[in-house]
Amino acid sequence: MAILVTGGAGYIGSHTVLRLLEQNYKVIVIDNYSNSSPESLKRVSEICNRSPIVQQGDICDRYFLRKIFESYPITDVIHFAGLKSVSESCVKPIEYYHNNVCGGMILLEEMQRYCVNRLIFSSSATVYGEPERVPLDELSKVGGTTNPYGTSKYIFERILEDVSIANPKMNITVLRYFNPVGAHQSGKIGEDPNGIPNNLIPFISQVAVGRLEYLSVFGNDYLTIDGTGVRDYIHVMDLADGHIAALENKKSNRRFNIYNLGTGVGHSVLEIIAAFERITKININYKIKERRAGDIAECWADPSLAEKELGWKALRSIDDMMRDSWSWQKKNPNGY
Ligand code: NAD
Ligand code: UDP
Repeated sequence: MAILVTGGAGYIGSHTVLRLLEQNYKVIVIDNYSNSSPESLKRVSEICNRSPIVQQGDICDRYFLRKIFESYPITDVIHFAGLKSVSESCVKPIEYYHNNVCGGMILLEEMQRYCVNRLIFSSSATVYGEPERVPLDELSKVGGTTNPYGTSKYIFERILEDVSIANPKMNITVLRYFNPVGAHQSGKIGEDPNGIPNNLIPFISQVAVGRLEYLSVFGNDYLTIDGTGVRDYIHVMDLADGHIAALENKKSNRRFNIYNLGTGVGHSVLEIIAAFERITKININYKIKERRAGDIAECWADPSLAEKELGWKALRSIDDMMRDSWSWQKKNPNGY
């Protein structure tokens, strides 16, 4: 039994590969390093004294995938590979649909060719679009996405559902992540965005380390606790554990499953700044700016289905998230 992890050198992938290796799974990673470095998996090996098999290549290259499926006894695929920037997706929609939808289709075709029937797919809370109400459970309305990235996730979820209906051997789990943050507690692996970060916590960390001058807080006139945007931040190690739980899911007898992976608690931008300052004792210089186009006011998960069926629940606190993000940033001020 071997697990193929696409995009396993990336942020969430590397933390999940670590957990898989710690659980004694045989792991094969494929990655084209378009948004990562081979260094992340070297660090994973340093942490756990085990190594995945790593092959550089692209999920859009079916001949590469065939070599992989022919070479290893793969039973399950965890599919992280894809492009993930909301803003970039508005500028490069074709690249986003090509990677996230066509790449996924090629992967599915080759899985079917080699009778590999179990797939876990990285989706996102962004498929819910503007929430009608919070918390969001898995039956909340989806669609209404406002950018090609979100739409690519929504389309691929639909494709997966249709495939699971048509092929009774397929077993597919869609995991909708809320806002992944933090890093492994060792500070050896973490999030290493290219250029200026889009996301809140990497941005705050880079202000703290002196790489950026100040944080722009995008809007303080939302109808939220303090006017700033509210999100469900989840520690990346809790997320990694969610993948192990999904892999070992025994309770659900459905062949197509969707689970929210979040904490069930929302935090505002100002609360996050305050938590970061409290944990690190560093003052974060920030300015209130205009709302960012496409942002929603608030969004958090109802994660109870994952707890009921997967026996999984996020355990790490906001303080853990801030401490571990900072430890990674401090030890690796310029990333990998
Ligand atoms: P990441 O960019 O760090 O990791 C993605 C990995 O896939 C990278 O290593 C990249 O090099 C690789 N990759 C991209 N296209 C590829 C291709 N065509 N062939 C082979 N490898 C390819 O991103 P991440 O934060 O670890 O996200 C992992 C998955 O989770 C993505 O699908 C993302 O959309 C999804 N997700 C992420 C977040 C988040 O905030 N980080 C939230 C929700 C969902
Ligand atoms: N945010 C902010 N300044 C930044 C980045 C983000 O104020 O430089 C806010 C953003 O408006 C949202 C929250 O922080 O309310 C989380 O944003 P992020 O981009 O991390 O995640 P997402 O938008 O995907 O939920």
